Amino acid sequence: MNAHLLATIDLATRNVASGGGPFGAMVVRAGAVVATGVNQVTQTLDPTAHAEVVAIRAACLALGDFKLTGCTLISSCEPCPLCLSAALWARVDEVVYAADRHDAAAAGFDDREFHELFGKPRDEWDLPVRRISTGEDNAPFTAWLSLPSRIDY
Ligand SMILES: [Zn+2]
Repeated sequence: MNAHLLATIDLATRNVASGGGPFGAMVVRAGAVVATGVNQVTQTLDPTAHAEVVAIRAACLALGDFKLTGCTLISSCEPCPLCLSAALWARVDEVVYAADRHDAAAAGFDDREFHELFGKPRDEWDLPVRRISTGEDNAPFTAWLSLPSRIDY
């Protein structure tokens, strides 16, 4: 595990020289690297192109599946809430990281702030997030549940 962690740290460090953010990740299954990812937010103009998300997308393509059951997500830094959610959706078995949210904060990143935000009531957020009921709110779910060929995920 340490070798994989060190490899993600190396990916992250080299990504800085390539103009990316200082984050690297990989998906490993049975000791073998399935895919790697580095932060590509600024180069691809994609705020969700975090190293872990990039690695998860690549791993799913490599395995031909939308689930990564049996895999470990390894990251150079503690995954932010976006990446933790991606790990949950991908159904990985385990998440391992090296640096933590405090280390990221010291480097100017919002990981710790966002982790703390999710522990607060939404009415304290600077970002308004609110429900507006339409009377048709559940139509997509009704369509989904009545579709016999649906692929549950
Ligand atoms: Zn992230």
